[in-house]
Amino acid sequence: MELNEVLRLVRKNIINLAPYSTARDEYKGKLGVFLDANENPFENRYNRYPDPRQLELKGIISAIKGVPVENMFLGNGSDEAIDLCFRVFCTPGKDNAVAIAPSYGMYRVAADINDVEVREVQLGEDFSLPVDSLLASCDENTKLMFICSPNNPSGNSFPMEQMLALADAFNGVLVVDEAYIDFANQPSLLTVLPKYKNLIVLQTLSKAYGLAGLRLGLAFADAEIMSIFAKVKYPYNINLAGMERAKELLARDVNAEIELLKSERERVAAALEQMQCVEKVFPSDANFLLVKVSDARGLYDALIEEQVIVRDRSRIKGCEGTLRITIGKPEENDRMLAIVDKWK
Ligand code: PMP
Repeated sequence: MELNEVLRLVRKNIINLAPYSTARDEYKGKLGVFLDANENPFENRYNRYPDPRQLELKGIISAIKGVPVENMFLGNGSDEAIDLCFRVFCTPGKDNAVAIAPSYGMYRVAADINDVEVREVQLGEDFSLPVDSLLASCDENTKLMFICSPNNPSGNSFPMEQMLALADAFNGVLVVDEAYIDFANQPSLLTVLPKYKNLIVLQTLSKAYGLAGLRLGLAFADAEIMSIFAKVKYPYNINLAGMERAKELLARDVNAEIELLKSERERVAAALEQMQCVEKVFPSDANFLLVKVSDARGLYDALIEEQVIVRDRSRIKGCEGTLRITIGKPEENDRMLAIVDKWK
């Protein structure tokens, strides 16, 4: 898709929006007497508004991800970016979005809040991507398509060629949520971002980077799309304390943690497969395992009894009988495994 076709998908009121202009948008110098923003002048580290463009933190993330700052949006978690996709592209009560199912629950919640219909398309055998059914579910009001890869809760990634085939064939914006990509054994779609104008890639600092508490989510897309996100977001959506801590914590190397979690994932999967109550451990490219057991609720309760908390996914269509188990530290995983092993 050409960029001008993508821009035509943006809601008219958003294209025409005159964004709120902050005092700090107008004057960008660091030195001076600041009598422009009605702040309290007495220093306490946080008495000034933060940079609404988050350029310093984006510069650090740009170096890590290899994506230019202008192709990036920073949000209050990737949940903010998901919500913005709806607010930018979907006219409430008229437009719709297509999403895979089972998948991350926020696509539907954000759509419901925005009064946008979501057409959920069940994944195929072994959670495969139903490319044809996804395309068949679209009509002229379908603005967005959500794919999550690696997918939550199934854990699998989808083949890159299939996702790119969707980007080619779909006359809307393909949103690929890569929250778990750092645990995957396949590359990110960021590698092809410049070629696909209708692609938005979502990532987050909440998972592999270990910063869930700071609430920093990332969206990557064409610079024009990102500048539209920037004008729709709350002016100071990322707070100064969060940015400062992120800058410090992104300086540490998370690769050793990621490698350990990936090797624990394989160890835990192999151990679970040997256990009597386990019927199937689904292959995972993420930091969790979806596990089918003989009695999901019973095992869930047994784990809770011992203060080991996992996620019961058994009421979700396509995930009947399953628990989703996050990979923890080795000793935490051992504690979980011991309970599963002695259960029935
Ligand atoms: N996408 C997926 C697939 C997720 O599982 C999650 C969190 N569970 C998120 C996005 C949201 O992440 P955050 O808002 O913390 O960036």
